[in-house]
Amino acid sequence: MYGLNELQTDLDILQSQGAEIFDIGYTLLGRPIPCIFKGSKTGGQTLLHASIHAREWVTTPLVIKMMKNYAGDHGVWCVPMVNIDGVLLVQQGLSSIPEQSLKDFLLNVNGGSADFSLWKANARAVDLNVNFNARWGEGAQNVTYPSPANYIGQYPFSEYENMALRSLTERVKPSVTLSYHAKGNVIYKGFGCVDNGKVCAQRISDSTGYPLLDSFDSAGGYKDWYVATFQKLGLTIEVGDENIPYAQLIDYLPQIYEQNAHVLDIATECAQNLS
Ligand SMILES: [Zn+2]
Repeated sequence: MYGLNELQTDLDILQSQGAEIFDIGYTLLGRPIPCIFKGSKTGGQTLLHASIHAREWVTTPLVIKMMKNYAGDHGVWCVPMVNIDGVLLVQQGLSSIPEQSLKDFLLNVNGGSADFSLWKANARAVDLNVNFNARWGEGAQNVTYPSPANYIGQYPFSEYENMALRSLTERVKPSVTLSYHAKGNVIYKGFGCVDNGKVCAQRISDSTGYPLLDSFDSAGGYKDWYVATFQKLGLTIEVGDENIPYAQLIDYLPQIYEQNAHVLDIATECAQNLS
């Protein structure tokens, strides 16, 4: 298990090693959302995030390890756990939810089951990665009611977590963004007919061994919004073997890290050329 306590310990270590740690906003339940910065604020910037989907929390210790080992000079911003409320719901169940009315709501949305281990959404049962303003609501799997996954929310950017990520992105104006998800060992690039930074995308694909796929029918994701808005290189990286259950992906973290060990070096170099 890797939860909020483990994350806090690692943030303290990163800070003691010279990284900047600051909050970009709050979750629905008022938990501060941390961000890590390393490198130089001049030149092209790289921004990555993880755990926007609750059950994919293995991506948090992955990006933390990537940030700990990043020794380059180029600027990197990392939001290691966007959907903190959702991750804690997956890991701790309803005991992580403070209010009885919200517990009742979430239990109902989850079909009466107290097992939240496959939950993707936040604590309002909105799937954060279909709530961005890019073909919002046009995804084939989108639903328009609260759900453990795929609920688009009442309107684009209705969720605090996404507002925080949007503000950070607009401030940093990164040239490369990496959205870490699980699972499948593939990388999705582009949005609609926008497909910039192809050479860089291919280098990252070659380095990880993950095939590079176009996501023509993607909608409402961070990568979709970023590519459509900034017209730079946005990648969604899906880590972990498709056949491994979500809760067991943490056992494969060493291998997953090895596959992604050079991604930040490549991405930050690409960011200089794309800025
Ligand atoms: Zn995901």
